Amino acid sequence: MSANIFSTFESVLLDDPGRSVALLDDGRDISRQQLLDWSAQIAQLFHLSGLEPGDRVTVQIDKSIEGVALYLACLRAGLVYHPLNTAYQPAELRYFIDNAEPAAVVFSGPYEENLQSIAEDAGISLCWRLDGDGSGSLMQQAGKQSLDFDTVARAPDDLAALLYSSGTTGRPKGIMLSHGNMAASAHALHKAWAFSRDDVLLHMLPVFHVHGLFVAIHCVLMSGARMIFLPKFTPELALNYLPQSTVMMGVPTYYSRLLDSAFNQSHCANMRLFISGSAPLLMETFQAFEQRTGMRILERYGMTETNMNSSNPLNDERRAGTVGPALPGTEIRVVDAKGVAVAAGEVGAIQVRGANVFSGYWRLPAKTAEDFTADGFFNTGDQGTLSADGYLSIVGRAKDMVISGGLNVYPKEIELLIDEQPGVVESAVIGVPHPDFGEAVVAVIVGEADMDQLQALLKRELANFKQPKKLIAVDSLPRNTMGKVQKAALRQRYADLFK
Ligand code: ATP
Ligand code: MG
Repeated sequence: MSANIFSTFESVLLDDPGRSVALLDDGRDISRQQLLDWSAQIAQLFHLSGLEPGDRVTVQIDKSIEGVALYLACLRAGLVYHPLNTAYQPAELRYFIDNAEPAAVVFSGPYEENLQSIAEDAGISLCWRLDGDGSGSLMQQAGKQSLDFDTVARAPDDLAALLYSSGTTGRPKGIMLSHGNMAASAHALHKAWAFSRDDVLLHMLPVFHVHGLFVAIHCVLMSGARMIFLPKFTPELALNYLPQSTVMMGVPTYYSRLLDSAFNQSHCANMRLFISGSAPLLMETFQAFEQRTGMRILERYGMTETNMNSSNPLNDERRAGTVGPALPGTEIRVVDAKGVAVAAGEVGAIQVRGANVFSGYWRLPAKTAEDFTADGFFNTGDQGTLSADGYLSIVGRAKDMVISGGLNVYPKEIELLIDEQPGVVESAVIGVPHPDFGEAVVAVIVGEADMDQLQALLKRELANFKQPKKLIAVDSLPRNTMGKVQKAALRQRYADLFK
């Protein structure tokens, strides 16, 4: 039997082809059959244009339901889907095109000028346009194709997608995801969160990242649920559509922005689940959300390399400040520098193993070898603790750990303390070069806190080597589109503080 994950989605959708799968902001209601038909036609167009299984298709497109059909078409045709963040600029695009060596490129109007010339330079002649409203040459040409396309058989290890990481800690790495990886995660997630055909997912995430593309869309396609598919998140759109939804997925900033709006319990009449991930959910957001709505946000943890690793339980205790126990099928361990599991509550490196874990970095065999252990665990680069009953807490990334005077300082511990203080909205603790200590701890703080009082408190509460040598007030923290704080950018900004 073929392991093409498209076939799994197709069998769910064919169960009731006339049923809606996506409701759009322009009022269109897209049926399952329509989505399947588009995917067949695009796959056919690609096939007749000479694309072959294993070829990469690079896309930089505005969000559209036709874009979802394009993703499905790539799966069907055995092509490797390679989506790009719409924020990427020419120099970055050139890197991705040179690195991924796609055989075809699809872009939306705003990115055409940049991407077309880069594609031409790279000798790629197959280029199509797909705009956010579905118009453009891709759907025009696909519309003329046959509705029958025989899905290409795939083995579990065959590549389905090439996703680049977010670039939070350095240059984005190409991550090879197979049909088997995606299937493992999709099965685990839709079960863990009990998706059913009665669910309506409010989809406001970007679809060039694992969160909006795989986590969200796969849960819908695996369960026969429907989604309200919106171009982006705004509090206004969310308030408008929440009453018709049952599940929402978001990054933490969506939830803090919702709390700053008129959002209240009345918007949640049909809601059964709010899920958060991609960046740490502040304890304060979790608590304020519960106070406002009576509902506890379910936080989960994943990454491009592994899809989802852990999730707070649907029916058991959702513990604030944790990302829950390992998902079924995924093993998580926390180890010391020698690779030995640490005791419950001790900080160590988070490692994961399971069918969801990618096979390696694209064209980076040395990096792949470095990040996998001899017994097949992937070293996530995140640090955390496991409680005695298996709940994982993330304390930060190994690369963000500060080593001051030879001692390890975990930024999260200091951030949690600062965030609790009156007037503080949020904070980011970083290490910057220091002539005596190697690195000095610096706290960058958003809010109206009294810095003298804060300094005095930190002196009382923290060991000397953890003391921030400087507290810096700012209006906001730099974040990327997934709501991740850009600590590397902060380190750069304050690199000369002690020089
Ligand atoms: P790069 O690998 O290029 O530096 P990135 O790691 O930010 O970028 P992604 O794969 O998008 O790229 O993000 C995965 C990371 O996001 C995880 O390793 C983890 O650090 C963080 N993350 C995801 N979910 C959570 C969460 N619930 N709480 C805290 N951190 C999270
Ligand atoms: Mg990463």
